[in-house]
Amino acid sequence: MMNLIIIGAGASGLAAASRLIERGLDPTKITILEAENRIGGRIFTVPHGSSVIEIGAQWVHGKEGNVVYPLAAAAGETWNDIFTLESTGHANDVNMAYTDGRKISQAQLKEFKKILESIYDDSKRELPQWKKSLGEYYENKYGELLDQGFLSSMDRMTAMDLLDWAQRAQNIEDGADDWKETYGVESLNYFVEEDYTTVWKRGYSVLFDILMKNVPKTSNGLKLSLSDRIKLNSPVNLIRWNSGQVQVVCSHQTYYADMVLVTCSLGVLKDRADKLFTPLLPEKKRRAIEALGYGTVNKIFLEFSKPWWTSEWGGVNFITDPAKATGEWEDRVLGFSTVRGQPNILIGWITGSAARQFETRSEAEVLLKCSALLRRAVGADFAYEEPTRMIRSLWQSNPYFCGSYSFRSKKSIEFDVCPSDLAEPVADSNGSLRLLFAGEATHDHRYSTVHAAVETGWREADRIMEFVKETKFSAKL
Ligand SMILES: Cc1cc2nc3c(=O)[nH]c(=O)nc-3n(C[C@H](O)[C@H](O)[C@H](O)COP(=O)(O)OP(=O)(O)OC[C@H]3O[C@@H](n4cnc5c(N)ncnc54)[C@H](O)[C@@H]3O)c2cc1C
Repeated sequence: MMNLIIIGAGASGLAAASRLIERGLDPTKITILEAENRIGGRIFTVPHGSSVIEIGAQWVHGKEGNVVYPLAAAAGETWNDIFTLESTGHANDVNMAYTDGRKISQAQLKEFKKILESIYDDSKRELPQWKKSLGEYYENKYGELLDQGFLSSMDRMTAMDLLDWAQRAQNIEDGADDWKETYGVESLNYFVEEDYTTVWKRGYSVLFDILMKNVPKTSNGLKLSLSDRIKLNSPVNLIRWNSGQVQVVCSHQTYYADMVLVTCSLGVLKDRADKLFTPLLPEKKRRAIEALGYGTVNKIFLEFSKPWWTSEWGGVNFITDPAKATGEWEDRVLGFSTVRGQPNILIGWITGSAARQFETRSEAEVLLKCSALLRRAVGADFAYEEPTRMIRSLWQSNPYFCGSYSFRSKKSIEFDVCPSDLAEPVADSNGSLRLLFAGEATHDHRYSTVHAAVETGWREADRIMEFVKETKFSAKL
């Protein structure tokens, strides 16, 4: 009878396991090896006060075509009353200020937003013909519109500083270090449906309760929870896959399986696929691992003893005057904005190489510098008080993530590879299917999201069940 190891208890791994059990695979034939001391992966909901904070995924992006949305909605777990990306600095009631405290006026902000919206509208028509990066497209168009005198409320230098903020905001969506790394045409093949901003009432981790609820009784009548199949604190160090059963080596134990479903992030694969797999993975897959994009996005939560801001204030975004830039990570913090359900907390975002540098800095330094940024930006308007605590994500330096999420890079076009090359299963020299791949980065159109992760987990579960049906392996139903 076929047995399976799933590496990773994130959205894709747990979606695959629950689908397999729903389709009749004996749960005792599945082992899920998870490196961390928790399930969830890049979904990391932390209870805080009377609500939660999301260290990783937060939004259910889109309804149509999003496999997570109907699960969440049917369970009555969604909040749909949000129309902007609140908690990111995209909301309408968020101000902008230079890091030295100079303000951008509401008129300037309005003009800037208008010009960005017009570029975005044009991009739907023009990007299919654009053979360069998304960043080059935006910079080109913006330059043209400035030349035509589109921005009357500010000088060109201020306009360019605002564009730099737009790049940082775009990098949160793409996960890229620089918008010149994201391929323009491919950004159109990324499916972003309407209603981008649904959130979970009790946090994204409720998804796992929903996914795992349909665990059947085993044949001997005992109820077997899928959670019994998960081995936490079990990082996989080596996968030997080309001689009969696959050998999966953890520090304290070696496991054997007929098939292994790998759901490690693209960041983990980039970091050490060549050490993790013996023999090496096929050439095309290694090229996909090298060329598909994967970046760093981090969140910074500042907690205050009480809010010093008013209920109308949504936050402040930071722009950096290049003449006053320190060259340090703090030049690149996007801004701070309010967090639903957390009256004393503000959230900040940081991406790219600055986010990696930020991870190497002490908590004390981050707290001090973020507070200084905020004080300069808002101190004249409010009786600003120092934060009492900082909570942050460290997605890059955690060896089981090595970053945040994937994107379609220019390099992947040059290398002629796409996410489905990463998804391609691998057979051993006898032609037996041995390695399967799921996870957000293996989805051609919805990469970078939770719903991509879930869909790819289900995709591989279905592939396994088809294989089980067609071969000598029998699934104990
Ligand atoms: C800051 C941030 C914000 C985000 N916001 C959103 C959002 O709003 N909406 C959205 O849809 N998506 C968002 N995402 C993306 C989303 O979280 C991911 O796309 C999704 O959770 C990925 O799931 P996965 O199963 O593919 O990978 P993962 O969640 O990374 O799961 C893989 C698992 O494998 C484990 N693992 C890795 N290496 C090993 C090893 N050697 N041995 C054993 N186990 C191993 C890891 O610990 C992990 O648990 C965000 C991500 C981040 C980081």
